[in-house]
Amino acid sequence: AGRLEGKVAIITGAASGIGLGAVELFAGEGARVIAADIQDEKGARLQERFEGRVRYVRCDVTREDEIAAMTAAAASEFGGLDILFNNAGISDRMLTVEEITAEGWDWIFSILVRGPMLGIKHAAPLMRERGGGSIINTSSVAGLQAGFGPIAYSSAKAAVIQMSRVAAAQLSPQKIRVNALCPGLIATSIFGASFGLPRETADKLAAMIAATGPKVQPIPKAGLPEDIAKAALFLASDDSEFVTGTYLLVDGGLTVG
Ligand code: NAD
Repeated sequence: AGRLEGKVAIITGAASGIGLGAVELFAGEGARVIAADIQDEKGARLQERFEGRVRYVRCDVTREDEIAAMTAAAASEFGGLDILFNNAGISDRMLTVEEITAEGWDWIFSILVRGPMLGIKHAAPLMRERGGGSIINTSSVAGLQAGFGPIAYSSAKAAVIQMSRVAAAQLSPQKIRVNALCPGLIATSIFGASFGLPRETADKLAAMIAATGPKVQPIPKAGLPEDIAKAALFLASDDSEFVTGTYLLVDGGLTVG
């Protein structure tokens, strides 16, 4: 049997990159998945590919009404909720503290921090009904170390780690575990966007930075969405039943120093 047999999962940012990798892996492990994103066409295709197992729901994580509808869909479509992977994200094109605007800062935080927080808020009551659950929030190496760039993005990703700890403490009586996941350089469209590059060029750049960058990464290649999805599967499944309030760094050794 799959490691997520009988479980219902919500994955945000499910149409591409890490989220897509997680949909494929989680569904393959027996979960039924609410795939949430704002890319309707890709979402529809994903639902078609995994007919009956994956349901696409449009959810802009900056909107609380859409987050509430997304969590409600887990109950109405699949009868409950066990796993929430708060993964949707954007990058802010490497803006520095002198370049960022007040609006830009709020925009990044509304997607990367407030979105996941509201997701947790709306998911918790459903998980309590099931006797517990697991929540995974995508942070980043940028949330742990300076030097990976943008001021708002990095600050938001650091906030995600602390939010995960506090939520883990507050939701422990309900047997809900909460952890953050910190990917390193992963070949996805977000990585390209932060340099204004198309996906293919970005993949090559990620690999190059990993192999030849300021510090050579111990595993000198760009990570793949599957590498992160596998770590998310560990945190989602009962294999991590004693793990809460922490972060899992999956970066090929990039931050080893
Ligand atoms: P990606 O661009 O391939 O995927 C991000 C997805 O989020 C897209 O499908 C996009 O449509 C969706 N999204 C964006 N704004 C949204 C919103 N307001 N509401 C709902 N969905 C929205 O990029 P990815 O690399 O797979 O990113 C996934 C997560 O991983 C992000 O949180 C990102 O910050 C984080 N991350 C990525 C890397 C990397 O190197 N790629 C490293 C560390 C952390």
